[in-house]
Amino acid sequence: MSEDRDGTSAPESAANELPRERAEMVDRQLRDRGIRDPRVLAAMAETPRERFIPPEREALAYADRALPIPAGQTISQPYVVARMTELLGVEPGDRVLEIGTGSGYQAAILARLGCHVVSIERQPELAATARERLTELGLGDMVEVRLGDGSVGDPGGAPYDGIVVTAAAPAVPPALRDQLADGARLVIPVGPRDHQELLVIERNGDRSSERSDGPVGFVPLVGEAGFPE
Ligand code: SAH
Repeated sequence: MSEDRDGTSAPESAANELPRERAEMVDRQLRDRGIRDPRVLAAMAETPRERFIPPEREALAYADRALPIPAGQTISQPYVVARMTELLGVEPGDRVLEIGTGSGYQAAILARLGCHVVSIERQPELAATARERLTELGLGDMVEVRLGDGSVGDPGGAPYDGIVVTAAAPAVPPALRDQLADGARLVIPVGPRDHQELLVIERNGDRSSERSDGPVGFVPLVGEAGFPE
C-alpha cells in the first residue's frame, strides 16, 4: 500500500497487485506442491501470465486453474506448465519443439530457460497473437511460432532436445517419438477427450522408456495423428 501525503492509504490498482500474486503463485501453487527446479521456478516468477490472457480476465491471471483463451482453447494451469517444463529436463541452448502454442505462455517459459523453441499452432488467430506477445516481451528471437498441424511434428527440424505437447492426443504420435534426440524427452497428455495421463517418454539409443506422471485434462490435439476435427 502506498501512502498519500496526509497519511491515508491509497488503493492499489489491480494491476499493481499482479507481481505479488505472481510471487504467491510460485510459492503456493508450485514450490509447496513439489516443483523443485530453481530455473523453472525463476522462469515462472519472471513471466507475466496476465500478458497471455484476454484483458477482461486479467484479475484471474494467477488463479490456480486453466483459463479460456480465444478459439475455444485454454491457457494451462500454472502448476501444469511448471510440471511439464520440469519433466522435459531441458538446458539453456537446447532446441525444443512445442505442439499447441495457444497463448504462447508455455513457449515463453521455455524461452526464459534459454531454449530455442519452435512452437506449432493450428489456429491462425492464436499463432498471430502469440507471436506478437512474445515479440513484445523480447522473446521473439527465441521462439518461432509456426502455423500448421503439429501432430506430425517437424521432421525438417528434428532431432529435438525436448518435445512438449500441450493438447491431448489419443495415442503417442509416432512421428514425435522419432523426432527425439538421444536422451531427450517427449512430454504429452495421452488418453480420451475427457481425461488423460501425462506421459514422459525418454529416448535412449534405439530404446525408449515411458512412464505416467499422473492424470491431467487438456483440450484435444486435432490433426493427422490427433483426434478428427
Ligand atoms: N501451450 C498453450 C496451451 C495451449 S491449449 C499455452 O501455454 O497457452 C492447446 C493448443 O493446441 C490450442 O491452441 C490448439 O489450437 C492447439 N492444437 C490442437 N491441435 C493441434 C495441432 N494438431 N497442431 C498444432 N496445434 C494444435
